[in-house]
Amino acid sequence: MTATRVLVLNSGSSSVKYQLLDMRDSSRLAVGLVERIGEETSRLKHTPLTGGGAESREREEPMADHEAALRAVADELAADGLGLDSPELAAIGHRVVHGGLKFTEPTVIDDAVLKEIERLVPVAPLHNPANITGIRTAQALRPDLPQVAVFDTAFHTTMPESAARYALDVKTADEHRVRRYGFHGTSHAYVSRKTAQLLGKAPEDVNVIVLHLGNGASASAVRGGRCVDTSMGLTPLEGLVMGTRSGDMDPAVIFHLARVGGMSIDEIDILLNKKSGLIGLCGDNDMREIRRRIDAGDQEAALAFEIYIHRLKKYIGAYYAVLGRVDAVAFTAGVGENAAPVREAAVVGLEELGLAVDGALNSVRSDEARLISPEYARVAVAVVPTDEELEIADQTYALVSDRNA
Ligand code: AMP
Repeated sequence: MTATRVLVLNSGSSSVKYQLLDMRDSSRLAVGLVERIGEETSRLKHTPLTGGGAESREREEPMADHEAALRAVADELAADGLGLDSPELAAIGHRVVHGGLKFTEPTVIDDAVLKEIERLVPVAPLHNPANITGIRTAQALRPDLPQVAVFDTAFHTTMPESAARYALDVKTADEHRVRRYGFHGTSHAYVSRKTAQLLGKAPEDVNVIVLHLGNGASASAVRGGRCVDTSMGLTPLEGLVMGTRSGDMDPAVIFHLARVGGMSIDEIDILLNKKSGLIGLCGDNDMREIRRRIDAGDQEAALAFEIYIHRLKKYIGAYYAVLGRVDAVAFTAGVGENAAPVREAAVVGLEELGLAVDGALNSVRSDEARLISPEYARVAVAVVPTDEELEIADQTYALVSDRNA
């Protein structure tokens, strides 16, 4: 029997998201999420998608660690006849946030690879440790199975030094591996490729600005299928205004808050990553709630929206200049896929650049990739739902199929 299933694991510090896919037709067999791992009551939500229905099952019980969580996931999958011991399982694909400069492609995990992912913990202290725990646990469950790491940073490793280097003292920067790595890479890769498809062209022939606007948000400039710039940097804090992150700021704000505000480095870290962005500006980070407040005349929410859009426009303009010629601007992720007012506001006034949004097309709700620009516009504006799990599964399956070929 040919093994055609791939389990995708996205392990966070206290959560695991998973999907089991059948790569013959990229269909989902089951999806689920474990939250609050290590807390008194962990919660597992499992949805089998075989056999027509999509009836979810929920479990609330203590799961002390990722191993307990993954064992519970394995039990749920087994109950649906999709157990991890199945010979149909070809590989497990892991989302790994930081791959540094070394990992430019999906990689089969062995001891040396795991060591290198560990070596990167100082530049991704919030993410890589959880990813490592997920990998080790999955290895313990199925030691014989190929485990593949798909890195968030990989798509951005094609950035030229002019975009990737900060204007810092080179020796210091190199000693501490301080440079711009970028994140959300699987999404930028998937969406830029899909956008080319939507235009009926090969990825090599199109230049795309991808706007991944979720709770975390990043922009990228993609020339002929290769990333040439992206807005996140050493960490996901740089760039756009996000749900709870500030994005770009004068770095001296940090010295000021420390020296004059008396705040510790850890307090400033939490302020900029968790209490800034939209939530810092208006108390809400959900774009639906912000739009509702604006419609009700709320000035604070309106200003937060303006600041968000102003930054977004600056990046569209900057990446237009970086690319020289732009074929498409693609909106994706929670806000990008759903918030028509954000898409409209981001493009208003950019007609001279060939950018425009058609009001009627923009207001259509759909799960499909689609164009929302009028026919006369020189630059296509697209909404392209992202699918990071499918991209991880595709990359994982391609790698293990190649190895077995
Ligand atoms: P993500 O991180 O991609 O899951 O995106 C999550 C964000 O998407 C939420 O915080 C919301 O701000 C936004 N979002 C989701 N659905 C909608 C919607 N229908 N309209 C506006 N924003 C939405």
